[in-house]
Amino acid sequence: MNKEPIKIKPRRILVVEDEEDIVGLLTFHLEKEGYQVQSALDGAVALQHAFNNPPDLVILDIMLPEVDGLEVCRRLRSNKLTASVPVLMLSARKEELDKVLGLELGADDYMVKPFGIRELIARVRAMLRRLEQKEDVVDIEQAEESILQFGEIVLYPERHQVSVRGEACSLTHKEFLLLQLLMLNSGKVLTRELLLDKVWDYEVEVDTRTVDVHVRYLRQKIEDDPANPTYIETVRGVGYRFARR
Ligand code: CA
Repeated sequence: MNKEPIKIKPRRILVVEDEEDIVGLLTFHLEKEGYQVQSALDGAVALQHAFNNPPDLVILDIMLPEVDGLEVCRRLRSNKLTASVPVLMLSARKEELDKVLGLELGADDYMVKPFGIRELIARVRAMLRRLEQKEDVVDIEQAEESILQFGEIVLYPERHQVSVRGEACSLTHKEFLLLQLLMLNSGKVLTRELLLDKVWDYEVEVDTRTVDVHVRYLRQKIEDDPANPTYIETVRGVGYRFARR
């Protein structure tokens, strides 16, 4: 049984680019979105970072000193640690990106410079979402008694307690299970149907609106501003996600 707290960390993005202005711009905007950013100004350093501590996503420029972006991508793909990390390629020349496509290096998306920062952020989000959809939903039983921690929220399964900003927070049994399931699957969108199934276990007289009502109560207890939640996000038309960024 794992007694170490599971610390839910924000998604990490490795930015590989030798133009410092662009690194600065990307870092600023990605951090504002809540991602953790590491940067490398050349391909050799990028590979070192990636293999030491594999990121959740790589933004990779093609024109780089030392090892170019094409070779970086190839080496990321051929190492077990980084083989499935999504790569967003950047290039100032469209012909170069066509070459990337032709080489089938396994980059997941491409953008031509100069790019719009909002467009880039949207692509990054979409790539991470695809990644999260591939991951299986973790059940509460699988987590056993692991303490879960994200930001100022700590959940203690054994004591059936939650603390927010260091203060005990009183949750009902269903609210507790709902939060536990969302935290265990942070970053993943959980549908109302799935939440209903796992938390309510086919109790009679409940439907997906029950989930919405409980999420509303839960937000009032854990969010700084329940009208603008930062922990439990609504994914319109689908369900809810515990933020990981
Ligand atoms: Ca460059």
